[in-house]
Amino acid sequence: MGKPDGRVIALLASGGMLAAALITISCTSADRKDTRAVEEALVGASTRTRPAAGQVSPMSLHHEVKVVRRFIPKRRHGRKFHRPMRPRYITVHSTQNYSGDAWDHARALENGKLRAPRRRGGNRIGYLTWHFTVQQDVAIQHLPTNEQGEHADFDGPGNNYSIGIEMCEHRGNSRGRTLERTAKLCASLMYQHQIPLRNVVPHHHWPRKGKRPANKNCPHFLMTNGQPGRKWNAFVGMVKREYERIHVPQQLVTIGGVPARVGGANIYAAEL
Ligand SMILES: [Zn+2]
Repeated sequence: MGKPDGRVIALLASGGMLAAALITISCTSADRKDTRAVEEALVGASTRTRPAAGQVSPMSLHHEVKVVRRFIPKRRHGRKFHRPMRPRYITVHSTQNYSGDAWDHARALENGKLRAPRRRGGNRIGYLTWHFTVQQDVAIQHLPTNEQGEHADFDGPGNNYSIGIEMCEHRGNSRGRTLERTAKLCASLMYQHQIPLRNVVPHHHWPRKGKRPANKNCPHFLMTNGQPGRKWNAFVGMVKREYERIHVPQQLVTIGGVPARVGGANIYAAEL
């Protein structure tokens, strides 16, 4: 966003505390709606200066994810071609590799070991690449989020516009903790890139031209009979809860009476 002009009014008030107090008022379902409207009006007209319990700043959420950068070397292997991207989706996969952990995948990507036949209408670069590999205790980043990966649907929108996340499945790795970390990463990326929750999708979402079945059963442990269902929805619920924890610790800036979005800098894009 540009520099604030004369119309910008920065409001610093204690309305957040008032709104918090209102939440504690017990009420019938009939007047609950009204109470919510009042709360929203108050929050909209003021600023919470302190996060409520469980809330985190965007940077704290990023730290909770524990991202370690191990980029594929620039201009080599899966980054031989520079392919810029402005991400609009997040695609979630699982490795289906029961022996390799996130570090093994990072090493394989760095050393150009994950080859795939390059062909017209199929893999475009001769390698598989994606942005993050998550396991119970860490999320390793392999590509800047402003570069395309090769993980979803060849020359389709899944590769052209989405950040690819692989969840590890090696023995001894906690699936619950991996899912939790992945949900935090998705929420953090949603915030940074202004990606809506409906654009957090499983690999299954993207049909692969010329493949049978076109829609892959991936991430398989979140699919129900090969399709997104109850388990996928539960994961989306986790992402939503993480996203709703984000509290932006700054004054609300309004331009011409309309709240303006501030922050959201891309902390995953810097290149080595
Ligand atoms: Zn996949």
